[in-house]
Amino acid sequence: MNVYDSTRMADVLAPLGYEAVASPRGADMVILNTCHIREKAAEKVFSELGRLRAFKQERAAEGGEMLLAVAGCVAQAEGEEILRRAPQVDLVFGPQTYHRLPELVAKTARAGARHEGGGRGVLDIDFPAESKFDHLPEESAAPGAAAFVSVQEGCDKFCSFCVVPYTRGAEYSRPAAAVLEEARRLAAAGVQEITLLGQNVNAYHGEAEDGGTWSLGRLIRALAEIDGLTRLRYTTSHPLDMDDELIAAHAEEEKLMPYLHLPVQSGSDRILAAMNRRHSAADYLRIVERLRKARPDLALSSDFIVGFPGESDADFADTLKLVNEVGYAQAYSFKYSPRPGTPAAVEEAQLSEAVKAERLAGLQQLLGAQATAFNAACVGRDLPVLLERPGRKPGQLVGRSPYMQAVHVAVPEVALQRLTGALMTVHVEAAHPNSLAGRPIVDVGGVDESAASPAPTALTAPTARITA
Ligand code: SAM
Ligand code: SF4
Repeated sequence: MNVYDSTRMADVLAPLGYEAVASPRGADMVILNTCHIREKAAEKVFSELGRLRAFKQERAAEGGEMLLAVAGCVAQAEGEEILRRAPQVDLVFGPQTYHRLPELVAKTARAGARHEGGGRGVLDIDFPAESKFDHLPEESAAPGAAAFVSVQEGCDKFCSFCVVPYTRGAEYSRPAAAVLEEARRLAAAGVQEITLLGQNVNAYHGEAEDGGTWSLGRLIRALAEIDGLTRLRYTTSHPLDMDDELIAAHAEEEKLMPYLHLPVQSGSDRILAAMNRRHSAADYLRIVERLRKARPDLALSSDFIVGFPGESDADFADTLKLVNEVGYAQAYSFKYSPRPGTPAAVEEAQLSEAVKAERLAGLQQLLGAQATAFNAACVGRDLPVLLERPGRKPGQLVGRSPYMQAVHVAVPEVALQRLTGALMTVHVEAAHPNSLAGRPIVDVGGVDESAASPAPTALTAPTARITA
């Protein structure tokens, strides 16, 4: 979501003459787009601001000025504190007000520096009544082969550990027509894969043109009809909102990729209740079963929190049991981090860092082994891969398999440019813990780059179902 928001901020600033640059050194403006989900992410903001102060001073010494802005959820939650602790900051704004950047930049220019070489201290952390989406301009930069489209924001679920409802605000779904229009525009610009974004994306309930409401499953069906789009994904989902229409879309929509990030957080019913997740471990397993019935090759991913207040050895053992029952293709796991203002942070039964670290290591070992096994099972298979960008090594492109694995594909150096953006069938030759490596199954040429012929049909064949 932050990557998407940063791109949109660049779109808002483009008419003012700003363009993205690779380094903060010498820039006219630096925006730190921040995350407040765990303490570590939030603290990083202050160390980054220290580093950026040196660039700001350097710029001032050259007679120029670098505006330093803090955006995102840390800005929303700790705006005043940022201005107090980091006087070099010129502007602080939250996730729901970045469409106002042109006026905020003008306001910042009018405001005097709070002290010599210091920041100007402008703050906008409103939750405006109007949606920012009604004010965002069209995309300014050419997209790649894969793009994000935000369809839903905020959350009303109030899990007891989570800051999102406080920093992103109440749940909001964009109207279906606006999403379809953005998707058509992206497809016309060459985008093949769209990932629909939302903190609670499957709670989507967007206004439809006939005055009714569309669920995410209905929206996916409409998006699947757009010519040029070959792949659809969505993230992040809550188990409670996994409705029949969405599960049916997994069975019926070939374009909907067989990968789902469905966070469960814990395998213990006691902890799930304390987390206010409003489902049990058995409910989650039933949903997984229904999804796998709909799409047998569905690869699953999840988020886990270990060391939630009051979590016992038995509760943690229940989490390991659930992981063993589901079998994940990949997953994210975190030590519980108490967040200011959330109910769990004031629970008395906080666990020690040592217990959290030990449990996290145990869980990550199991999840790592499952991911390695999932990747290893792909060796020897032919998988469709959307080649998104050059890899780190010469003669290498990187893309995603249907199951979200990063795949490094060896191609002739001269064909790199021509093949970037192609959907290509790749023979998987090697598996690593977090990626695969392979080669195209057809001759991709490579001698005469200037011929610029379209990729052979075999390279753009629609995604096939592959049982992993
Ligand atoms: N809406 C999604 C859901 O309900 O699962 C999760 C979105 S949240 C932005 C991403 C992940 O951060 C969560 O799934 C959770 O695992 C993790 N997370 C959130 N608050 C946390 C906390 N206080 N400590 C540790 N991890 C946390
Ligand atoms: Fe946070 Fe997700 Fe719970 Fe909402 S549903 S409060 S975003 S963890």
